[in-house]
Amino acid sequence: KFSTAAAIEEPIKPPVKVEHTQLLIDGKFVDAATGKTFPTLDPRTGDVISHVAEGDHEDVDRAVAAARKAFDHGPWPKMTAYERQRILLRAADLFEKHNDELAALETWDNGKPYEQSAQIEIPMLVRLFRYYAGWADKIHGLTVPADGPYHVQTLHEPIGVAGQIIPWNFPLVMFAWKVGPALACGNTIVLKTAEQTPLSALYASKLLHEAGLPPGVLNVISGFGPTAGAAIASHMDIDKLAFTGSTETGKVVLELAARSNLKPVTLELGGKSPFIVCEDADVDEAVELAHFALFFNQGQCCCAGSRTFVHERVYDEFIEKAKARALKRAVGDPFKGGIEQGPQIDSEQFQKILKYIRSGVESGATLETGGDRFGNSGFYIQPTVFSNVKDDMLIAKEEIFGPVQTILKFKDLDDVIQRANNTHYGLAAGVFTKNINTANTLTRALRVGTVWINCFDTFDAAIPFGGYKMSGQGREKGEYSLKNYLQVKAVVTSLKNPAW
Ligand code: NAD
Repeated sequence: KFSTAAAIEEPIKPPVKVEHTQLLIDGKFVDAATGKTFPTLDPRTGDVISHVAEGDHEDVDRAVAAARKAFDHGPWPKMTAYERQRILLRAADLFEKHNDELAALETWDNGKPYEQSAQIEIPMLVRLFRYYAGWADKIHGLTVPADGPYHVQTLHEPIGVAGQIIPWNFPLVMFAWKVGPALACGNTIVLKTAEQTPLSALYASKLLHEAGLPPGVLNVISGFGPTAGAAIASHMDIDKLAFTGSTETGKVVLELAARSNLKPVTLELGGKSPFIVCEDADVDEAVELAHFALFFNQGQCCCAGSRTFVHERVYDEFIEKAKARALKRAVGDPFKGGIEQGPQIDSEQFQKILKYIRSGVESGATLETGGDRFGNSGFYIQPTVFSNVKDDMLIAKEEIFGPVQTILKFKDLDDVIQRANNTHYGLAAGVFTKNINTANTLTRALRVGTVWINCFDTFDAAIPFGGYKMSGQGREKGEYSLKNYLQVKAVVTSLKNPAW
């Protein structure tokens, strides 16, 4: 049982100072045009960490003008690919050097365990920058055979000024997914961070400038969605939009892009991913992986395995063990060693998750463990497990984005395929089986952008990621992401002597 009252002690002092809270425009930290700021909060307590400049339309205009100038007049797209590669590699070295400060800022602003920030996320940021630095001098077009006396080639050119809008759940990883490929291809950027987590991207962007990034190439706006975010999505001088966030907001930005200048849009949106435990699974291993698939990052993953489908033959044993595992989960101050789960991001998400938990109980699912807040301050939630979940319950249909595992029973492969696909989402799926035929059958039948077989959340820089259906459009990471930031120009040269 949880000891809710005494669970959270005095918060540990974060081992970092906040240095940058202004907007980053044209290589300089500046105040918002309106002079306005907003508080960014510590999810452990709800206390203010610092006040951050609040960007709005006018700041987006200034940032776009700087990005436009850096693109149209250089030096960025005009530098050699090798020079751009060197800057990205130097930035990766600086991220690595400042791993601990970046990790501390990330944990302070977001609430995720420091060990996870320091050992997984910052190393991923570094790896992604090195990966895309590697691409910078390997981007080239084709020579195309054509009918007639023509020499035909394609040029792969940067698309221009990229607008990028990111969420709060993995602030620096999302930063890397967006900024890495855009810069490698020679674009310039106006990026808006999530209002909940503005701090780490400002620090990382300062390091990019230290690495030699010219002014105006990367501009960072802290601020809110309907103001700064909408200004980016609808800007006439932004040539491409990359958005990660909820499906609801994805629809809004797509519409804003269409109504303004028809800028191409890539979308990484929400999910309700199935994690399928087959009848031949080793139950202990399946429980551990299903637990990780759902609870990692406080359950705040777009691809969380949030519908745990378990074969009826192993269902009862699975429930008992899943419950025991959730009860063992180490919840507490994310700066403390050995902690698996910190607080949720903010009061809004915290309330939303508790509402879903109440809805699960009211709709007749069995609450195996958890179900309430953890401790009596901040936004901590008890690891929660529901069994006996039915497909039509809200907790099985909507994205909870919290530490709430919903377990559903299935009969056979046909049954689970039909039910796993019965959603508007299509981001990812987990399959746990020893049988290669089962794995192959499920892989082909599931309408999702990623299938993890006997693993989950494997996020190598080279593996593409994105959604089917309402989970998104396009792919990020890997070689596929380069397409988002390149235009193809066909060049047709007559081989005849121009006699006229
Ligand atoms: P959100 O859509 O509310 O916010 C995401 C970003 O969009 C923020 O920067 C926000 O300020 C901005 N925004 C909000 N309204 C806007 C508007 N009208 N115009 C322009 N920008 C606007 O999402 P969230 O709740 O912060 O993030 C969680 C969601 O993100 C979840 O649904 C999750 O599944 C999804 N997500 C998806 C992926 C993925 O790769 N598919 C990754 C992480 C998170």
